Amino acid sequence: MRVYNFSPGPAVLPVEVLEQAGKEMVEYQDCGMSVMEMSHRSPMYMEIHDKAEALLRELMAIPSHYKVLFLQGGAFQQFAMVPMNLCKNGKADYVLTGEWANKACKEASIFLKAEVAATSEDRKFSYIPETFTFSADADYVHITSNNTICGTRYLELPDTGNIPLVSDMSSGILSEEIDVSKYGLIYAGAQKNIGPAGVTIVIIREDLLENEHASKLPSIFQYKVHAENKSLYNTPPTYSIYIAKLCLEWLKRQGGVPGIQKINEAKAKLLYDFLDNSSLFKGIADKKYRSLMNIPFTTGDDAKDKDFIKGAAEAGLVNLSGHRIVGGLRASIYNAMPMAGVEKLVDFMKKFEKQ
Ligand code: PMP
Repeated sequence: MRVYNFSPGPAVLPVEVLEQAGKEMVEYQDCGMSVMEMSHRSPMYMEIHDKAEALLRELMAIPSHYKVLFLQGGAFQQFAMVPMNLCKNGKADYVLTGEWANKACKEASIFLKAEVAATSEDRKFSYIPETFTFSADADYVHITSNNTICGTRYLELPDTGNIPLVSDMSSGILSEEIDVSKYGLIYAGAQKNIGPAGVTIVIIREDLLENEHASKLPSIFQYKVHAENKSLYNTPPTYSIYIAKLCLEWLKRQGGVPGIQKINEAKAKLLYDFLDNSSLFKGIADKKYRSLMNIPFTTGDDAKDKDFIKGAAEAGLVNLSGHRIVGGLRASIYNAMPMAGVEKLVDFMKKFEKQ
């Protein structure tokens, strides 16, 4: 029996997608083989690849002067590829809003001078800073749009003027409408809102592909090489891209990003309203910056939190523990988590509170 899976990632996928993939697993359409067995240069795979890109462009309204890349190595590889490829003056500004932002900054400091433009560490990353110090000659400003561990998200983007804004959107991409033209580069690992692990999306403004430093990098680390080869420079993660395509088709059927945003807001509201009125559980992030995707909370007592995780799992609600570095509880409610899953979770929380 399928459970409600609140994992932060790899995360729940739409059942319809899994069922369709199951049907097509051994033989894709009339191709006589599985997508896993196809050459990445074959016309049948190319059709899947092109469709995945076209769907992402349509769903996110990506302007034509941006390239979409399907890479490997996860968001973590982007922590390195961003500074390697965007470095001109040897300086970048990072906004520290949690563990992943910190890691991105630390990795960047291997290649350039990574400066802290703002941080919310003083209150354990429970909010998003609103004042920033940017250097006029920074090559880019890096933010983490949705903070998977602490459960915060940007409501407004920092004004970076002419400095390109780079965003790690791993846990927020496709969950709410954004204006791609405000960014120089967006990256996201797929395993939360796009599809299975294995493919990493990069959306990059074309002018940023021209870079002296980058042209000296090993070819596999150059955005320009991947862009010129339509993400087929080497073998892409073909099966992950195929499942991502199915997920994007599913998302389109939900009314696209505006449609899913409404559902996401309703799901988050249900859980936050309960937390705000609960005598036992409390939310961790500041109200103003609360994430739609990752909702950390706690009873304030480790032993009770553990009991809750155990009881919830017995009731078919799994992966509700907080990140190992912060503890407590966390419900990740990505696009594919149905409203029914959040309703069942809130019902279980009510029962647990009474007991
Ligand atoms: N950034 C964010 C916001 C994340 O949530 C994660 C993973 N949970 C990462 C980066 C790291 O991603 P990956 O494991 O794909 O390298």
